[in-house]
Amino acid sequence: MTLSATQSWDITSATGQANYARAQRDYPAQAIVDLAALKANMEHLTQVVAGSHSGHAPTQVMGVVKADAYGHGLVPAALAALAGGATWLGTAQPREALALRRAGIGVDRAHILTWMYNGAAAPFDDLISLHIDISVGSFEGIEAIAAAATKLGQPARVHVKVDTGFGRNGFTPEAFDDALTALKAHVSDGALEVVGVWSHLAVADMPKVPDFVAATDAQVRVFEQFVSRMEKAGLPPQIRHLANTAATLSRPEIHYELTRPGVALYGYEPDPSMGVAADFDLQPAMTLQAQLATVKDVEAHHGISYGRTYLTPTATSTADVPVGYADGIHRSASGANELGAGGPAAVHLGGPVRVMTTQGPRIVHVSGRVCMDQFVMDLGGFARDLGISEGDTVELFGPGRGAESGFAEPTADDWAKAAGTISYEIFTCLRNRIPRLYLHAAQTLSAADQLMLDSDSILS
Ligand SMILES: *Cc1c(COP(=O)(O)O)cnc(C)c1O
Repeated sequence: MTLSATQSWDITSATGQANYARAQRDYPAQAIVDLAALKANMEHLTQVVAGSHSGHAPTQVMGVVKADAYGHGLVPAALAALAGGATWLGTAQPREALALRRAGIGVDRAHILTWMYNGAAAPFDDLISLHIDISVGSFEGIEAIAAAATKLGQPARVHVKVDTGFGRNGFTPEAFDDALTALKAHVSDGALEVVGVWSHLAVADMPKVPDFVAATDAQVRVFEQFVSRMEKAGLPPQIRHLANTAATLSRPEIHYELTRPGVALYGYEPDPSMGVAADFDLQPAMTLQAQLATVKDVEAHHGISYGRTYLTPTATSTADVPVGYADGIHRSASGANELGAGGPAAVHLGGPVRVMTTQGPRIVHVSGRVCMDQFVMDLGGFARDLGISEGDTVELFGPGRGAESGFAEPTADDWAKAAGTISYEIFTCLRNRIPRLYLHAAQTLSAADQLMLDSDSILS
């Protein structure tokens, strides 16, 4: 008998069951994404901004779906975000913005904004013809977009990116007069339509740290100055947008006409110091599960994996989990104990994994170094006593259910802590060789939208 540490997935149809079985045969790990959770998260975000007042128009919400929707799958996540009330979608890379339109998300469904390119080589003509809004924050960008629009005979819709203190892209206050002159020239010749102005916040995810609150306040003041300079120059922006997830959740006064939450759509707060997802009524949408490879007994003081950073303290059983850093499992989430080669100074608790035993769930940890395609866990007991065997389904992270057992599902925040990073990197690093499977497609998406998904990826 095999045991599973994840919830028993509610897959009723024969095709859903066949897809689930095929995915397990194809690969010994699966990322299961709940589209109903994505939709509910977006519904919640649209409610959060609904009470905001802006000078121009009601606040709308952009679902940020860059980086394959933070690893959740670009098109499915975008469709769930639209089902939840988003009216904008955003991607960093033009290629992903184009993929959304080409998948069938038309102008009638969503505005799309894209922002990461250089002026030397980018598919501006495709972006313009597919009615994708383009961020512009450099002089090279202005000229390259205007040239493409002129050649096409169709104006490009641009959002002027301003650097209010993030220090990444966007015009600085010093360069802005020249930028306005260049923009005005191309508005007059019909190449550009200035739709919006926008900027990005550096420290909005630390609303309890006074210095950071002051830094965000300063960014807001600078943003307002940019806006009034545009108005004075005769280029008033139709929409202003500044708020990421953190500011969407904590700063209603800067929702303006549009907010741009990313990580909240996937069910996470930006920084664990803000609290946990449930404090913000968000549900983590992804569960990462794997089926165990070798389970076996080893002696006390048996070295585990490269570098012998972990030696078994007692005779025990180990289990091999068939995902590694080539799947995006961070090597920095390796485990080292005091018996290992680095001694007590190198002790590090590895990433957490929920396993199911005949006595209920347990949390065990990565023991020794994460390898390319696998890692090992010391089960802290004998597999025959625990009922653990090869083929069991273990859970690396999920929505955090099961707190009542004392062994709640780990979340991507727990892996982030073990790996010394942020939840964003945990899910965006997951490689696409791990199949993405979707729950609640039928209940979340229209029949037409369901057809935009890979039919092999639908569980329910
Ligand atoms: C990624 C990104 C966002 C979303 O940030 P979250 O912290 O995930 O909400 C918003 N705006 C820009 C420009 C981004 O690059």
